[in-house]
Amino acid sequence: ESFDAMNLRENLLRGIYAYGFEKPSAIQQRGIVPFTKGLDVIQQAQSGTGKTATFCSGILQQLDFELVECQALVLAPTRELAQQIEKVMRALGDYLSVKVHACVGGTSVREDQHILSNGVHVVVGTPGRVFDMLRRKSLRADYIKMFVLDEADEMLSRGFKDQIYDIFQLLPAKVQVGVFSATMPPEALEITRKFMNKPVRILV
Ligand code: AMP
Repeated sequence: ESFDAMNLRENLLRGIYAYGFEKPSAIQQRGIVPFTKGLDVIQQAQSGTGKTATFCSGILQQLDFELVECQALVLAPTRELAQQIEKVMRALGDYLSVKVHACVGGTSVREDQHILSNGVHVVVGTPGRVFDMLRRKSLRADYIKMFVLDEADEMLSRGFKDQIYDIFQLLPAKVQVGVFSATMPPEALEITRKFMNKPVRILV
């Protein structure tokens, strides 16, 4: 199997190859296509398996670039991880001119608000700052159609459960949900039961 066989946008493929990937990893082979079809997906995989590029490709394939509104929201447990995801998204989406912004704690709220007001396609962030931006309406949820929880187990163990639930309440009801997690503790299963619609489950 190759990236070529996934029916991806030409400019997304260019971004993937320019980034240096030649062949999809196991999780990418199984996970990218269901995600691009808009299905809810649970991917149970350790970090290091290529999950970041899986959801970044799935998101980039589905964005409407004519519409400069936040259409995809990715949550991660730490600032560093959120910023790393932002970089991968920007690199893979280089030929698509994707506008990505990382909303994380410890940075200027004013600057976040300024960048968001100029328009973005994707927001990657930690639950606290993202909820803050949604609550202030600096980040509008109306056009969000994809929602990814990266390292869901880690986010839950860091006490982000309430904030994740609060964020879910603010998103459009038919949002596509992707859950990536190394393990599936009861709290993670609860999220999948409450917020996902017939999820495809991929175990690597
Ligand atoms: P992740 O699990 O997303 O943290 O990715 C782990 C590492 O694998 C990162 O350094 C990626 O750049 C790399 N990687 C992911 N997918 C591929 C691929 N298809 N080919 C080569 N390297 C990859």
